[in-house]
Amino acid sequence: MTYSRAGGADGPGEPDREAAEPTAEPAREAAWAELVATARRTVADGLVVGTSGNVSVRVGDTVLVTPSGVSYDRLAPRDMTGVDLDGRQVLGTLVPTSELPMHLAVYRADPGARAVVHTHAVHATAVSLLVPELPPVHYMTAALGGPVRVAPYAAYGTDELARGMLDALAGRTGCLLRNHGTITYGTSLDQAYDRTAQLEWMCRLWLTASSVPGHSPSLLTPDQLAEVAERLRGYGQRG
Ligand SMILES: [Zn+2]
Repeated sequence: MTYSRAGGADGPGEPDREAAEPTAEPAREAAWAELVATARRTVADGLVVGTSGNVSVRVGDTVLVTPSGVSYDRLAPRDMTGVDLDGRQVLGTLVPTSELPMHLAVYRADPGARAVVHTHAVHATAVSLLVPELPPVHYMTAALGGPVRVAPYAAYGTDELARGMLDALAGRTGCLLRNHGTITYGTSLDQAYDRTAQLEWMCRLWLTASSVPGHSPSLLTPDQLAEVAERLRGYGQRG
């Protein structure tokens, strides 16, 4: 499979524009390639061991998901796996991830959600064992919508876990899952991935600071977080 894109690194190329009305198939193929790359990144960056996490991306009313138990290194274009928003398999023959209920719950709850990343990142999972909410030690807390909550423990793959996750996600784009891991979502795979990486980093930061004997970390106030949230709303706009 080859990929092409308008414009190269060494020249302006054609102006950026969306292909007008892309047919579903090329859009799904591109999204699948990006999903596989993101899943591999979770392993390469140490957020997941083996195939213990999972990634999904929504294209129209189809949700492409990592299949259950297949090494991300071995995923090829022909392995594309997809379900509808009710979980019925509409693409591929591999069994979708067992965490499908969590992914689908996010897409049903927020029509703006386009990608979901779930990992067992070690620092984030460690924090899930200790507190009901990650203390706001850094302003990136605001980028996830506010202090990150921990959803109650429930067995993996269950609707109960998905329900607890949705409650913990209220007003947030990420949460921790007690004794389990992380889940974040966004408008793209890159954004969902970046939110997971930021969340894991903040958990590592809090664990590091709170492990110094005789000291407790200073925390941001609600006003300080609100100020950052206001500034982040303008972040990325130029000129
Ligand atoms: Zn999991």
